Amino acid sequence: MLSRINLALFSFILLSLCSSILYATEPQNLQITKDILGKYHDSGAYEQDLDEVGYQAQAYLAEVIAEQQKQKSKGKLAVVFDIDETVLSNYAYMQKLNFGGTSNEIVNLIEEGKSPAIPVTLALYQQAGKAQIYVFFITGRKDTAGVRKNTADNLHAAGFDKYESLILKPVNYKPTVSTYKTAARKKITDQGYHIVLNIGDQMSDLNGGYADRTYKLPNPYYYIP
Ligand SMILES: [Mg+2]
Repeated sequence: MLSRINLALFSFILLSLCSSILYATEPQNLQITKDILGKYHDSGAYEQDLDEVGYQAQAYLAEVIAEQQKQKSKGKLAVVFDIDETVLSNYAYMQKLNFGGTSNEIVNLIEEGKSPAIPVTLALYQQAGKAQIYVFFITGRKDTAGVRKNTADNLHAAGFDKYESLILKPVNYKPTVSTYKTAARKKITDQGYHIVLNIGDQMSDLNGGYADRTYKLPNPYYYIP
């Protein structure tokens, strides 16, 4: 008898919990969300937010450069850039897919290699180059011959034509993007470079250390864990 009451009570609590989780509030309508994403870009707010972070990174890099010029022995200072939504904008493709599409459709479009530069990070790249700071690109794009060529061509066309290394994710790499990117920065550090700045649009670009400062650019369009 007691166990039957307990079972009924347990079922009631479980049902209440589930329904409160599932039906607490109706999620925002998908089309409204897409409209907001479009307006965020079209109003200029996205670019303004990109600029705000980019200007902070430029100001910090200017301090590093000024400090470096005072030192007699110049170390091998380096800056790490992510690629997608950091130095290259894929917004036109995202809009074309109405902020949807399968991950394969998105990747196929992006890897065509026709994405324009993000002006504020192009300026940061040029600032590093002028001060002879080494530039590394670390991207989650898969390391196939075709993708490597298209990515290098796209970087070149967008004005990113001098860098130390373009690091792409090995095709069969299983751990997370964050683990891969951290290991790549560790390798750069082990080679004697000192990463002063790491900039990306995902926390998985930035977590894990091996950089003095990290800068997180806005990206409400997709999430890479
Ligand atoms: Mg990115």
